[in-house]
Amino acid sequence: MKSEAIEKKVHDVMIIGGGGAGLTAALYTSRANLSTILFEKLVPGGQIASTDMVENYPGFVDGVLGPEIAQKMEAQAVRYGARIAYEEITGLSRKGNIFEAKSASSGKYLARTVILAMGASFRMLGVPNEKQLTGKGVSYCATCDGAFFKGKEVIAVGGGDSALQEGLFLTRFAERVTIVHRRDALRASPILQERAKMNPKISFIWDTVVDKIEGERNVTHVLLRNIKDGGIQKLPVDGVFVFIGHDPNSGLAKGFVGLNEKGYVVTDSHLATSVPGVFAAGEVREGAVRQLVSACGEGCAAALEAQAYLDDHR
Ligand code: NAP
Repeated sequence: MKSEAIEKKVHDVMIIGGGGAGLTAALYTSRANLSTILFEKLVPGGQIASTDMVENYPGFVDGVLGPEIAQKMEAQAVRYGARIAYEEITGLSRKGNIFEAKSASSGKYLARTVILAMGASFRMLGVPNEKQLTGKGVSYCATCDGAFFKGKEVIAVGGGDSALQEGLFLTRFAERVTIVHRRDALRASPILQERAKMNPKISFIWDTVVDKIEGERNVTHVLLRNIKDGGIQKLPVDGVFVFIGHDPNSGLAKGFVGLNEKGYVVTDSHLATSVPGVFAAGEVREGAVRQLVSACGEGCAAALEAQAYLDDHR
C-alpha cells in the first residue's frame, strides 16, 4: 500500500479508464479546478492506442496516429493538474457520500464522484486453438503485430470498420489479406468498403466462419465453413486477425451500478448511472456511438455533470 496521504485524500473526481472518454473527462474536471485522479491499467488512449491512423477526428486534415493523439490527450489532462495512476481498480463501493476504489496494487482511493470510462475490449472467436496460438499467428491488433507478417498470407475476420481498416493496414506488410465475413454484405462504412475492394492485395470470402485454427508452434491453416452450403475448406495462412466487435469492460461495475443484459452501463440523458454521483461515458455505456470523437464528447459531458453534482452536494 502507498502512503497514508493517498488513502486519506478525498478527490473530487475519480475516473476509471484512460481512453478518449476518460482523458477528456480528466481534462475538463482538472481545468475546472477539481482534484482529479484517473486510473488506467494499461496505456493511455484505450482502443485508440492500438489504432494506426485516425482519419475522422476533427481538426486533423491528414489524420493523426492513434498513439500520438492518445499521448497528447494524456499530456493535456496532466498539464491542468489531473493525476494519472497506472493501476487496476478491482472494486468500487460507496460509504455515505464518499466512493472508495480498491486498487490491485496500492490500497484504496476516495472520491466524491466517479466517472466510469472503462471502454470495451475486442471479442474472441471462441474456436479451437485460438487461445494457444494467440501471439503465434493469432492477433487482435494489426497495428501491434502487422509488421511480423511481411510477405505472408493472413486472414482478417469480420465485416465492420475494424476488419476493413485493419485489413487495409495489413496490406503494408502481408502478401495477401483475405477478409472472411459471415454474411455477404459488409457492415463497414462505404469509404472503407471502396478502399478495400480496390486494393489488389485484398480478397473476400463471404458467408463463411472460422471453425478451427490449426498449427503446432505457429498458425499454419484455418478451417473455414460456408454457412450457406456447409462446405469446409482448409486454407493455408500464417496469420489470423480477429475483428468481430467488442464487449464492455464493465465487470468492475457489476453490482455497483445498473447494467443492461449485455453488460453495458445504463445511464440517463445526463450520463448519470443508477447511483447518484456516479456517471458513465464512452463505450462502456449503453447506447454510446463507438467513435473517438463521441467518446471524447461524452467524457466532456460526464465531467460537466460531475461538476454540477459536486456544486449541489458541497
Ligand atoms: P462491429 O461494427 O460490431 O463489426 C463486427 C463485425 O464482426 C460484423 O461484421 C459482424 O458480423 C462480425 N462478427 C461479430 N461476431 C462474429 C462472430 N462470432 N463470428 C464472425 N463474425 C462476427 O465492430 P468493429 O468493426 O470493431 O467496430 C466497432 C465500432 O467502432 C463501430 O461503431 C465502428 O464504426 C467503429 N470503428 C470506426 C472506425 C472508423 O471510423 N474508421 C474504425 C474502427 C471501428 P455482422 O455484420 O454479420 O454482424
